[in-house]
Amino acid sequence: MAVAERRIILEFADRADYSIDIDCYLKHGGYEVLKKALKTKPEDLNTEIMTSGVRGRGGAGFPMGMKMKFLDRKSGKPIYLICNADESEPGTFKDRQIIHKDPHQLIEGMLITAYAINAAKAFIYIRGEMQEGARILEKAIEEAREKGFLGDKICGSDYSCDFIVHRGAGAYICGEETGLIESLEGKRANPRIKPPFFPAVLGLYQCPTLVNNVETLCNVKHIIKMSGAEYAKIGRPNNTGTRIWSVSGHVKNPGYFEFECGALTYGELIYDVCGGIPNGKKLKAVIPGGSSAKVLRAGERYQGKHKDGAEFDWTLEDIPLDFDGPMAAGSMSGSGAVIVMDETVDMVEAMANINAFYAHESCGQCTPCREGALWLKKVTQRMVDGKAREEDAELLKSIADQMAGRTICAFGEAASWPVQSFIAKFKDEFIEKAKSQAKGEFAKAPLGGYPLI
Ligand code: SF4
Repeated sequence: MAVAERRIILEFADRADYSIDIDCYLKHGGYEVLKKALKTKPEDLNTEIMTSGVRGRGGAGFPMGMKMKFLDRKSGKPIYLICNADESEPGTFKDRQIIHKDPHQLIEGMLITAYAINAAKAFIYIRGEMQEGARILEKAIEEAREKGFLGDKICGSDYSCDFIVHRGAGAYICGEETGLIESLEGKRANPRIKPPFFPAVLGLYQCPTLVNNVETLCNVKHIIKMSGAEYAKIGRPNNTGTRIWSVSGHVKNPGYFEFECGALTYGELIYDVCGGIPNGKKLKAVIPGGSSAKVLRAGERYQGKHKDGAEFDWTLEDIPLDFDGPMAAGSMSGSGAVIVMDETVDMVEAMANINAFYAHESCGQCTPCREGALWLKKVTQRMVDGKAREEDAELLKSIADQMAGRTICAFGEAASWPVQSFIAKFKDEFIEKAKSQAKGEFAKAPLGGYPLI
């Protein structure tokens, strides 16, 4: 039997009696947690968030409390809060559900966070294509301002804060926090070098800045409502709270689902929650956390030891649906986007699709990423076009290996991890494709290297 969803963030999202108007939000207890927070010392709110153990839901899974702790609060400069609503990772469609269906929850979570870090200005950076989402947020902010939840002396307290919705132009790299900050400052979204440009010290306008994702900031409201210690009891150690998973690909019932972390496995999500693979096909592979996460192959075994010394021996279907499960299996839960592939998927074509995306989205600042992403795209595209060469699998791996860890931002890894994992797990398919295309006559590399087209 399917494990039941535990909806905390999406509690009201799909209810017929719920709307995005502020009056409806107030009727359901909206902004009550903010009022409670404003009567609490900011340092106590920081402690609650740290105690909760909540980890970022945008991709890296970094603990939010640690990010807040790193903020340079002694510089004398203003401190800013930014909500990252760029949601660019292919396969991810959860933050937009919150924005479209419960925008005031996000505003309340942000306001509590802004108060906790003493920020007088906060930004919601939203992807340019999400026009309806931006309009909803702008209207919600206006409503909150009219009711005294935003602006001067919020709810009669001494705290003042205002929000700005900033629409990006629609680029993957705007989801990288320093690229986002550059874009917010009106420049091209070129990620900054870390160090020295850690946002907690030198962020927006060179001031200390906290950047968190939509779902993460919504959690703050619930942490303060129930206390950090109570929140930490949800899920399992180091994987606290619930997470919203976006499931797409070859399942009968794709969609978004909120579960307690670790309450079920990837297999239960695919077969029990999403109805299994359509048309009687078999599972071939799963990308467990957005297109940049390493692919997992059905039928493989994942063995190792947890930090507490307990041993695990999993198939893909056994991997716990949380942060640490996919990590232990050599991948990551990333943005919570689960992409399911059945046995009919041509892995070379799937790889070509992913590579085309990353080649298009590289900002171009660093050579390994700019050139490497383009080469990955060209090599896989020629394989799809029937011009594969025997050495292409090795060539792809070699290019990817020279990108990872050699770039300004994590995009180098995001573009190379899929290739490294596809080749590691499906090399036979890449070789087979080359053999079947060349019919034994592989193109020979000329002196000076391999032409890519
Ligand atoms: Fe730009 Fe890629 Fe370098 Fe990141 S890794 S800064 S996206 S070129």
